[in-house]
Amino acid sequence: MYLYNSLSRKKEEFVPGTPGKVSLYTCGITAYDYCHIGHARSSIVFDVLVRYLRHLGYEVTFVRNFTDVDDKIITRAKADNLLCEAVASRFIAAFHEDMDRLGVHRADVEPKATDYIPDMIALCATLVDKGFAYAVSSGDVYFRVRAFSGYGRLSGRNIDEMRAGARILPGEEKEDPLDFALWKSAKPGEPFWDSPWGPGRPGWHIECSVMSERELTLPLDIHGGGQDLVFPHHENEIAQTEAATGKTLARFWLHNGFVQVNSQKMSKSLGNFKTIRDLLKRYLPEVVRFFLLGRHYHSPIDFTEEALEDSEKNLKRMYETLLLLQQEGTRPAPRDGSSHAGLRDEYERLACGWNNAMNDDLNTAAAIGHCNGLMHMANKILDDKALLRNAGCREILEKIRSLIAVWNGVLGILGNDPQKFLDDLKVCRAGRHSINLTEVDGLMQKRQAARAARDFAAADALRRRLTLLGIEVRDTPEGAVWDIA
Ligand SMILES: [Zn+2]
Repeated sequence: MYLYNSLSRKKEEFVPGTPGKVSLYTCGITAYDYCHIGHARSSIVFDVLVRYLRHLGYEVTFVRNFTDVDDKIITRAKADNLLCEAVASRFIAAFHEDMDRLGVHRADVEPKATDYIPDMIALCATLVDKGFAYAVSSGDVYFRVRAFSGYGRLSGRNIDEMRAGARILPGEEKEDPLDFALWKSAKPGEPFWDSPWGPGRPGWHIECSVMSERELTLPLDIHGGGQDLVFPHHENEIAQTEAATGKTLARFWLHNGFVQVNSQKMSKSLGNFKTIRDLLKRYLPEVVRFFLLGRHYHSPIDFTEEALEDSEKNLKRMYETLLLLQQEGTRPAPRDGSSHAGLRDEYERLACGWNNAMNDDLNTAAAIGHCNGLMHMANKILDDKALLRNAGCREILEKIRSLIAVWNGVLGILGNDPQKFLDDLKVCRAGRHSINLTEVDGLMQKRQAARAARDFAAADALRRRLTLLGIEVRDTPEGAVWDIA
């Protein structure tokens, strides 16, 4: 498998440090608010990476932390008149709820920063002893950036260029504007822990250096996170860990791209901030997951309603095929002994293509393209009585059924009962288009009665009323069915 390593800026063959085992650390959320679609993307990307590595046979240990002490949590706690712990535990629970709905598995270890304070103090003390950090009169401890020669390697920044843009803020006693806080002295009313430098709390970056080293063995095989974390967070993690331990923090650095909304950066001030729970009022969780996996994890993704609806249509078609596959599977199959070389070759090409895409830097977008190709092939066979009798084609249908189980295991898609998914989707879309389902059902029943009484004029009038409501009616041998046009 090849992965794009942000550190080397190229795709490299992924070989874990210990054969058969993979250690993965990703930076989790700061628990002060509901998660947005950017968190959904990052969580889903690394969820798929873990699932795929396990599918390949690796024994994976996945650690994803929670930051439960931070300026933002303190601000929120003051605003809501709550303790920081209460704010953090509320939003950690909300994270789990949202991610469970999106089919994101829990990490093997989910450490909370405040459970590691003594180790953070010890790491700061080591850095001070080694000359990589210094305490100032206020009780803050800073990392001395210029003392660490590798600084800027991950983000590709030059230390003198960074220096030009950096300022020392009033009240800061830094030696150099580039230096960053390892330990922050407590202000009145803030949570604090005792330390050799007085009461205070850890800076954000030191948390990950401590939790990754405590829960995994250095160097980590993979360290991941969103692209926004490359600088300064990951750069600082590297500096702290490598200066203190003399060991490499991580061999592979993986970063997922940004999520934009209507081609704009998502931000609270622009009012285009999409929380997961708001989005899931309008779309099924699997549709959101399918949409996010429809782009390569490394590229930016533009979130628009149109794009989400396209993904929804695509997933709906796949589930319709899945339903037919399920129904066909229960029918006794008349067979002839022949095979179909053309379809067999096409099947092999698509099935192989799926694996190749996943091995090529986790290209889920291309992999989903191959899933579509295979579902299209299943449809072609299901639609053709001659092909359905063909033993070779029936074998292909069987293989596609097994592949769908693999896609569900790795991508987390197509795992629902197809009829239930399609019913849920109908309700969800009706809600989004303000369609009253009771009214539609009533009109459908009246139309059915009119048809049974051979009153076709009345039946047509009812169909026109349904059309005006945005409903498309189709008469099938099993009766009339409707869908949202
Ligand atoms: Zn981190």
